[in-house]
Amino acid sequence: MPTTTSPALRRPGPVRFGQLAFAVFCVGTALVLSLRKGGVFPVIQTAGVIGYLLAAPLVAACALALRRPASAARARRVLIVFHLLFIPLQFLFSFGNFEPLAGMVLSAVFVVLLKPRFPKLGRRARKIWLTVHIGVAVSWLGLSLAMTVLAFAGLTADTHAVRHGAYELMHLFDLALVIPSMAVAVLSGVVLSLGTLWGLVRHWWVLAKFVIALSLPTFAAFVESKWIRNLQALTKDAGAAEPGGTGVALAVCLATFTVLLWVAVILSVVKPGGRTGWGRGRAGSPRRSVTSASPANPATPVTVSDVQYLAEDIVSLELRRVDGGALPEWQPGAHIDLVLPSGKVRQYSLFSGQDEQTEQGSEGAPAPYRIAILREPDGRGGSVEAHALRPGAHVAIRGPRNNFPLVEAPAYVFVAGGIGITPFLPMIRRLEAEGADWKLLYRGRARPAMAFAEDLLRRYPGRVGVSASDTDPRPALAELLSAAPQRVAVY
Ligand SMILES: Cc1cc2nc3c(=O)[nH]c(=O)nc-3n(C[C@H](O)[C@H](O)[C@H](O)COP(=O)(O)OP(=O)(O)OC[C@H]3O[C@@H](n4cnc5c(N)ncnc54)[C@H](O)[C@@H]3O)c2cc1C
Repeated sequence: MPTTTSPALRRPGPVRFGQLAFAVFCVGTALVLSLRKGGVFPVIQTAGVIGYLLAAPLVAACALALRRPASAARARRVLIVFHLLFIPLQFLFSFGNFEPLAGMVLSAVFVVLLKPRFPKLGRRARKIWLTVHIGVAVSWLGLSLAMTVLAFAGLTADTHAVRHGAYELMHLFDLALVIPSMAVAVLSGVVLSLGTLWGLVRHWWVLAKFVIALSLPTFAAFVESKWIRNLQALTKDAGAAEPGGTGVALAVCLATFTVLLWVAVILSVVKPGGRTGWGRGRAGSPRRSVTSASPANPATPVTVSDVQYLAEDIVSLELRRVDGGALPEWQPGAHIDLVLPSGKVRQYSLFSGQDEQTEQGSEGAPAPYRIAILREPDGRGGSVEAHALRPGAHVAIRGPRNNFPLVEAPAYVFVAGGIGITPFLPMIRRLEAEGADWKLLYRGRARPAMAFAEDLLRRYPGRVGVSASDTDPRPALAELLSAAPQRVAVY
């Protein structure tokens, strides 16, 4: 039986303990909300009590199910979906109550700890979400600017009517415009991050934006909205007190919000900082590099689980561990040593994308490795022997190791020849998922001998140039490079 290695199973203790603690938090919050008198929105408060009372047993049951290997994977999936749905619900419950905001933060932390594997968005879906995200994020920034102006107007106005009007307007803006645009901006940002290889914690710039996106609403709910309500009440009557320290604090707070939202915009455009340790992954790092056969670096027995004809003289082999376990994760550009039955060792690039690994892994069975092999009849026999392998054959592998990693760059131009296309396929998938700027010129001896050519042209129209050797590649290459931005990584 293949064994799954879900994060929840690998680290059950903290995750399970956290869920039990959250169940207790739900009971406590339900109790607090039910006892609170004179709430601003009684209907929402009652909904909160019911929501938390229903959530507590569900979370506790999942926490217990995480202990049993048979039910752990399902419990983990249920918890991920639950927390994702419970985040916006708790946001609703937080109108007039601050406890649900703490619950929201906890749910967000649990989603990250449970390491969900989200299906990646298609090109069109990504564009739609990106459009929504940019639109509402810009609205949020504009509203924050307007709120800052109103806060300063309230602070400096000479007449009571203007002062009170400014705080009235701020309250109205907050409820009717700021909160909805803030919620949609955060939600669409999370969907975009999780639905692409940007991830929430894989890149420093996304992580920084995520922290800003969570801290602003939290501070607004706990502090800023209270200041607005207090100032509204304080300035109600003619001859009422001046806004004083609270008015100054509110103006400074809103100006800070605006600056932070500008920082988020700059982060989105510049994308500084590269990948976090989590984003870099461990595969391909020198620590995990496998460079030679030794007792400390043994070959892993694998089965050829599938053989596909890709193009003239090119086959792909799908490799799975003989014991059904998971193969090490890897990064684009990585290759493995294939130890053939004769003892010959040859290197082959892994070509199935990280996104493919994710999809397969989420269905329970560990993701296989895929390599594409060109038959070289004039060689020493390694590729010919690999071509003779059939499904069920036993071979061994070492690695993966990565001498050809993808570097951070504003744009990329790939120039691939023949079977050399293989390491670029996962790189392209990653860049495409990240929305990066890339182009590929792929050249081979004849179209029927060029694996993946048709698929690349169909998937990435406008980005890929394919040519066979009867044409001069130089004009296409010159055109590609002239159209590329100045700072570009050429592979
Ligand atoms: C990091 C890395 C990744 C690779 N990825 C892939 C991949 O994804 N797909 C793939 O098909 N291959 C890949 N290769 C190449 C692969 O490892 C093998 O070299 C290839 O399969 C040929 O093996 P062979 O034993 O059949 O031929 P080899 O004996 O290795 O010969 C290969 C070629 O060199 C020529 N040759 C051999 N000896 C000499 C000599 N003395 N003088 C002149 N010419 C000579 C042969 O005629 C033949 O054309 C990769 C290699 C590396 C290092």
